[in-house]
This record gives sequence, C-alpha cells and structure tokens, in this order.
Amino acid sequence: MRVQKHAISAPHSSAAYELSSFHFGPCVEKRVYIQASLHADEVPGMLVAQFLRRRLIDLEAARKLRAEIVLVPAANPIGLSQALHGAPFGRFDLRTGVNFNRAYKHVADELKLTLEGQLGDDAAANVRIIRRHARAALGAWRPADDSEVLKKTLLELAIGADIVLDLHCDNEAVLHIYSGTPLAAAIAPLSALMASHATLLTTASGGEPFDEACSRLWWELAQHFGQRHPVPSGCVAATIELRGERDVSEQLAESDAEAILRYLAINNMLDLDDAQPLPAPLCAATELEAVQPLIAPHAGVLLYRKALGERVEAGSVIAELIDPVSGQSSQVCAGVAGVFFARSAFRHVLRGMNIGKIAGRTAFREGKLLSL
Ligand SMILES: [Zn+2]
Repeated sequence: MRVQKHAISAPHSSAAYELSSFHFGPCVEKRVYIQASLHADEVPGMLVAQFLRRRLIDLEAARKLRAEIVLVPAANPIGLSQALHGAPFGRFDLRTGVNFNRAYKHVADELKLTLEGQLGDDAAANVRIIRRHARAALGAWRPADDSEVLKKTLLELAIGADIVLDLHCDNEAVLHIYSGTPLAAAIAPLSALMASHATLLTTASGGEPFDEACSRLWWELAQHFGQRHPVPSGCVAATIELRGERDVSEQLAESDAEAILRYLAINNMLDLDDAQPLPAPLCAATELEAVQPLIAPHAGVLLYRKALGERVEAGSVIAELIDPVSGQSSQVCAGVAGVFFARSAFRHVLRGMNIGKIAGRTAFREGKLLSL
C-alpha cells in the first residue's frame, strides 16, 4: 500500500486541508478508483472504505491484485470540517453554497478539438491518447478556491481509471445506483451484487457530478469520432447510494465491500478465491428521466404511508402532511408507478421540499435531473 498526500489549500492558509489516497497493487495501466463520502456527512461509504482497505492489504500481500486500485476513504476533508450549530454539514461548501458533487470539469468538448488528427484505428491506443488528453485538459483547470482544488485533485486521480465508484448515501433510502445509459450492460453485475433497488441511467444528468465527469467524455467522443476511429468505453463510472445516512453498520459495510470486490473480480481487476454466481438482480435499470421527485405541497408534519423499496402505483398515497396549526392534512400521492426508493430524513418539512423519489418506468423529465 502506498499513501499519497495531496495539499488542498493554498500556501499560508490559516486552515489547511489535505486529501489522502491509498494505492494498492501493481502500477499498471489498469486502474480502479473508489472514493467515499464526497458529501462529507454521508457516512456509510467511509465505513465501507475501512473494510475495503483491510481486504485490499491482504489481497495485495497475496499478489491477487491485477490493477492499481486507488482508495480515497474520506474524499472531502473540507466538508468533514464543516458543522453548523452542532450538525455536520457536508453537502455544500459553506463559503460558496456549491454542492461538492456538482460542477466538475467536463473535458469532452475541449477534447473534440485537441484530438482532431490524433486518433487512429487501434482502439486500445486511442484509449491511451484520450486519457493523456483528458489529463492535460484537467491540468489546465485553474481552481478558484479550495473546493475546486479538491474537485480537480479527485478528478485527476480518477480520470484515467477503467472503473470509478463514488460511494454516497441518501437521506433515508434503499440502495440505489446512478450511472450512464451507455454503461447499462457494464453496470448490471454491480447492480445485482449490491442488491440495488433502483439503478438509474442517463446520458447527461445536467449537474456535472463526479462520476459523469469520468465517464461521459467517452460516449460523447465515441459519438463525435466513432465514424472515423474506434473509441471504446474507457471508463465505467457509477455513484452508489449506500442506503440512508443512518445506515451505518459493520455488517452492511462489510457486505457492501465484498460486493464491490466481487464486481472488481468479475472485471479481472483482482482475483478472489470463491467464484460464486451472480445473485438475481432486484431491479432492471430504468431511466433517470423517469424518476419522480415528490414535493411537499405545504409545510407540515410528515408521516410516510409507504415503506422504502415498496413498489407503488400511480395514485398510491406515499405520505401524509399535517398542518400542526389548523390540524388539516393532505396526502402526497405517487404520480407514476415504480419503486419508492428514497425519502426525507426530516419529519417536519416546508413547502417545496423534496420528500421522496419514485423510480418510474417511463421518461418524463429533462434538464437538471439531480436534486440540489
Ligand atoms: Zn451524496
């Protein structure tokens, strides 16, 4: 195991942040990148990373790693230092209000220009050229603040990887996964191994999240150059939502870590002794454009009438909102049939707050598809 320290703050800052990455296995071209808790108050991933580190140390000692595996067990030292009146606050940079998992530099448009005349007929060679150009494009990013330095540092660690897994969680949720539509087949075994209840795919979510900054350039470049040169998918990237923010247990973390290792074994990134068959998937992937966010129509005390993971029909009552002053209540109903996979952790909400998500089967939304 090799440890790298990455300075995040400018020299002479009054408070200095540092990011640590742990590198396992041979320094070869094949690379896996796994990071935990980019939203710093989403804790389950950090515990999964502890189990991954232990297992990777053993697998490395047994010479069972076939790729370089990079683990960033606490991806957001800035967010981890933030608290508001006693409550950890890790989703947004308190100085700017910017979400730590949005606004990553997307390099595809730049690469469409710089790669002109550079690609050939050899797909593997093209992958190497594209990765080199992507790193150069990232190198030219001039961050304006510490958060952007963090984003650039994380992306530089991940951009050349074959597999990128970004471990998050929702407020209260069953396990679900976000990834790219062109990666549907590559993500299916991960979805089955992690027992995902909703695997949500899109070609562009509209928010430039981390996983998309690693993967989307490949299908956009394939679309642009594909008639002239072979451009394979060079990166399978996914955001794994490890249930809810309070689902922090050694039992869950250990089984999640094992599922991730099995996925890496299936992709020949490492060798495991027990080759078990893939479990049956809990869901087929659906479009992110088919997810219905449930919005509170007024403030009130929130009572859920459906359990997480439940399949619901259009019109099913998902929750009830009670105005504590008037005593009047109203029902919040599903607009689509699908899986009720995430909900709020609050039990009193304000008008307009997101109180749940249903993975529907038919696309009906466009534009910015991710929550704030
Ligand atoms: Zn998150």
